[in-house]
Amino acid sequence: MCTKVVNLTQKLVNIPSISPKDLGCQEILIKRLQLCGFYVERINLNDTNNFWAWRGYGKTITFLGHTDVVPAGNILDWNTSPFLSTIKNGVLFGRGVADMKGSIAAMVIAVENFIKKNPNHYGRISFLITSDEESTGKNGIKKVISLLKKRKEIIDYCLVGEPTSEKKLGDCIKNGRRGSLSIDLIIYGKQGHAAYPELSINPIHISVPFLAELSTLSFDNGNDFFIPTTLQILKVSSGKNYVTNMIPGDLSISLNVRFSPLSTERNIIHVIKSLLKKYFIRYSIHWTCYAKPFFFSPDVFCDIVTKSIYRFTNVNPAIKTNGGTSDGRFMINVANQMVEFGLLNATIHQVNECISIKDLFTLQNIYFDLLSRLFL
Ligand SMILES: [Zn+2]
Repeated sequence: MCTKVVNLTQKLVNIPSISPKDLGCQEILIKRLQLCGFYVERINLNDTNNFWAWRGYGKTITFLGHTDVVPAGNILDWNTSPFLSTIKNGVLFGRGVADMKGSIAAMVIAVENFIKKNPNHYGRISFLITSDEESTGKNGIKKVISLLKKRKEIIDYCLVGEPTSEKKLGDCIKNGRRGSLSIDLIIYGKQGHAAYPELSINPIHISVPFLAELSTLSFDNGNDFFIPTTLQILKVSSGKNYVTNMIPGDLSISLNVRFSPLSTERNIIHVIKSLLKKYFIRYSIHWTCYAKPFFFSPDVFCDIVTKSIYRFTNVNPAIKTNGGTSDGRFMINVANQMVEFGLLNATIHQVNECISIKDLFTLQNIYFDLLSRLFL
């Protein structure tokens, strides 16, 4: 029985579903879910495949996941073929095995086993799966959620299967994430001859003290769940038409801010603008908020997941909000409680992405156990 979850993971990994392509992964899942009594609604939007599947009535748990993966990267750096899953000494290798085809397989097999054992369980079990979490996400969970919201669907508990574990399976779960704000700045100087600096304004020189202070700015102090908001300078470039005797006319700067709910897009931009003013800098600024921060206060569901994890691992998970953004952010509109919990994230998006097969079985057991705690 245990090999089922490995087989399903391998089947999914062997499909090179580079985001936003699904290439048939979801049909494999749909077929299995239909066989155990799920209603399935395919919601395919342009290049993205999504489905919403449900079985039962009443209090609802939704398993949220994505079938797309990031590209393999440099194939020569892989010890195995990224899209031909390989097992070596109890470790399963392949692109997407940790992020997050392994956990999708664990969810599906756990649910199959649970229904087989308890065909008349309480509550409603549902799946919400997309093939675009890793690229723009334009036609993924965001749109499906607005559809579900229009129908007044209520999700009581949402389990996002993203790889949240850090060193040991179950050592970390997430109940929120920071937001991501990208900022493009152009600093204007005055172009001129390098030998006559008094006749020009060097945008690089005037930016140096500004950038130094910018890199030490503090926006908030964080709280029990969020580390303080951080800003990173990602790119500084100037001298597009570089020649050895010319002072450039402008300088471009790209920034990225990962912000907690204690800061807003508006106050971050305001702080940056005030600093520019302090240094008498002429500038233009553009920004894009890719994700707003979100947070679910730890509640009954968080307790249940924690208990299930402890039962199988003897580990009490830390509840964190670190890492990149996730589709969990869209659930804030329809879900009452949400927890992200999945495999180890040590190798995600890297070459030689891998998981321990033992962890995969344990994850399946934990998903099964939390269903029992909720619906028996
Ligand atoms: Zn992922």
